[in-house]
Amino acid sequence: MRDEKVFSLTVPGYGVEKWTPSVCGLCSIGCGVEIGSSANDIVAIRGRNTPVGSGRLGPKGMNQFSTNGHPTRARHPMIRNAAGDMVRCTWDDAMTAITSKISETLITDGPDGIAFYNSGQLLLEEYYTLGKIVRGGLGCANIDANTRLCTATTAASLMENFGADGPPGAYEDFEKTECIVLVGHNAAEQSTVLWMRILAAKRGKYKPRIIVIDPRRTFTVDTGADLHLQPRPGTNVALLNGICHLLIKNDWVDHRFIRRHTTKFDQFREIVDRYRPSMVERITGVKKRDLQKAAEWIGTSKTTVTTCLQGVYQSNQATATACIVNSMHLLMGKIGKPGCAPFQFAGQPSSMNTRETGADGTYPAYRNWEDLNHMRDLAKRWNIAPELLGKKPVTTPEIFELVEKGFVKVLWNIGTNPAVSMHDRAARFRALGGTFLVVQDAFFNTETASFADVFLPAAIWGEKTGCMTNAERRCQLLQKAVDPPGEARSDLDIFVDFAQRMNLRDLDGKLLINYSTPQEAFDEWRKISRGTIPDYSGMTYEKLLERGGIQWPCNADNPHGTTRLYRKPHFPTEWEISESYEKDLETGHEHTLREYRKKRDPRGKAVLVTTDYREPIDAPDREFPFTAISGRQAYHWHTRTKTAKSPLLAEGAPGVFVAINVADAKKLKVKDGDIVRVISRRGAVEGPARVGDLVPERVVFIPFHYGELDQNTSPNNLMPKLHDPVSKQPVQKGAAVRVERIGRPDARTWWSVR
Ligand code: SF4
Repeated sequence: MRDEKVFSLTVPGYGVEKWTPSVCGLCSIGCGVEIGSSANDIVAIRGRNTPVGSGRLGPKGMNQFSTNGHPTRARHPMIRNAAGDMVRCTWDDAMTAITSKISETLITDGPDGIAFYNSGQLLLEEYYTLGKIVRGGLGCANIDANTRLCTATTAASLMENFGADGPPGAYEDFEKTECIVLVGHNAAEQSTVLWMRILAAKRGKYKPRIIVIDPRRTFTVDTGADLHLQPRPGTNVALLNGICHLLIKNDWVDHRFIRRHTTKFDQFREIVDRYRPSMVERITGVKKRDLQKAAEWIGTSKTTVTTCLQGVYQSNQATATACIVNSMHLLMGKIGKPGCAPFQFAGQPSSMNTRETGADGTYPAYRNWEDLNHMRDLAKRWNIAPELLGKKPVTTPEIFELVEKGFVKVLWNIGTNPAVSMHDRAARFRALGGTFLVVQDAFFNTETASFADVFLPAAIWGEKTGCMTNAERRCQLLQKAVDPPGEARSDLDIFVDFAQRMNLRDLDGKLLINYSTPQEAFDEWRKISRGTIPDYSGMTYEKLLERGGIQWPCNADNPHGTTRLYRKPHFPTEWEISESYEKDLETGHEHTLREYRKKRDPRGKAVLVTTDYREPIDAPDREFPFTAISGRQAYHWHTRTKTAKSPLLAEGAPGVFVAINVADAKKLKVKDGDIVRVISRRGAVEGPARVGDLVPERVVFIPFHYGELDQNTSPNNLMPKLHDPVSKQPVQKGAAVRVERIGRPDARTWWSVR
């Protein structure tokens, strides 16, 4: 039961006139909230008793409403004038400038001259509409979301093992399991309410043992781990191959499940056979006895849940690592049953929706862009020419490269801040400054907005209605509590306006976007997803409200949704339904339909996937003896565009720091709080040293929330220009660096004045 005193916050001196049921808009856990408002101001928040968090909230969730009324909220559109200054303009001026530029570019360069880079923070209805406009209206394939940087590997790994995206498990599995393995997932800080559920489960019926695999000694390790494996950064593949080696060697596997429901066991066994504990210890630094203990706990528990997050997805061999986790569950037959799931996590609150609706590098409802039948079916439902569809998706790193090289003339950036979040920042700045840049955002002062040619002010959480789907496939309705400030409009309104101004029509000459409200958009999405893997056809706004969200697929057969996928272990790997035709883990080569049917088609079986460990390309050496890794903190979300606006969250973590091990600090004569410079082959970061045991020797950690344009505070300055060959997710944890002491700080550091 929720504790209202703990999980609620009200602005002192305000009374709440109205409580509006909604959902937290910060992360993929999707906790239920009620928004308290007075007149047109959000003045309070409290937990709502939904199946996700039973009314619990974390620090980010409780403080998110400070953002809505912040003075940096954008209240009117702006345009860059001839003198180069951003000046206020009307919506008509702004939209005319955009549509003129896009129409002109369509004539000179075709649809490839335009690109859209969106977010993991919008609503389902907005992503669906954007994807339809871009793919079905403009015939453009240059659309991706910032989820590429965050958890794109999730979808990639699920496609490789199971044939299609879609996390199989449910949060209740954490309460029904005997063993929880968190791989690169600092749940205590990133999935706060889920962590509360896990800690409660430790005292419950199944008392799960918790294994944490993370190079850092995180808050998760300190508050709940029973076993901590601390591999060297970039060595996840060796470690997980080692665990699978021991599972097979000790016969902790389900032979019947392997035989009946998987393929490629022999190939899998041949590779993991090489990863004996002594070899794994040499590569990862994890002691043999700890590896053996982890394998024994995993292998002998009746039920296991394993999660992966950015420690996997932003590291060396990201997709391979996530695939081995999925494979580990297949080896033991631990999938589709209570307490058993490989949980490839989502990060942002609606990143699932970008993947489902086709606003990232995928097509709507997990349709395979290479399958003509899938594309014809979509074209028929949209009533458009099929030739507009089936273009190879272009991912974020590729989009920015096309922008930098001048192939993309117009970049429309929606609800995201690539000037801070992208690696290889110097190249990104050149790209942002050298194109016609539209920025659609709630705040006029983001680092990316400073490059804009046209700025569109957008509504955010609490100011619009629509759905978000969390990491357990639960779609929930967020309701509007107040109007957006000034002239700001919802992202859906902006997209509908754009489609109408561009006069986008279907084959019958009707408006392509023939709706204007979120509910109408949702109803169309239900039709588009009907009969597909993420089937929403049985959901309505009313049902979503009544039931506190519904897990897809929800249709006539499953009117109340589906708790977990693969209860019957039949996987969508047949070529007719598979979302992709398998990519090569080493090279990223995308197999064609012919190759897939000839060499692989497992006809409903899951695929056991692994590969050999490859040393990170930017490995430490004599000149750069440390490895820099980056990550998040409990108080902030990504580039702080929202969380820094909350005084409590900003005070909780006001600035960058460099975590360094006490032994290294001693050698470098660095004291806690001293200013250090971290230098890689590409750039530098400066900040106070936080000396302790958060990281092992020869590793430094830098939070990635900071990145002011005029300061060296972003670890993205350091990172190599690399991305995973399969998921195309940039490597943001792993740069060879050296550390130099600059001097004493001017004032005491923020963590020592507490
Ligand atoms: S765990 Fe995530 S969804 Fe829940 S309150 Fe915290 S930030 Fe919001």
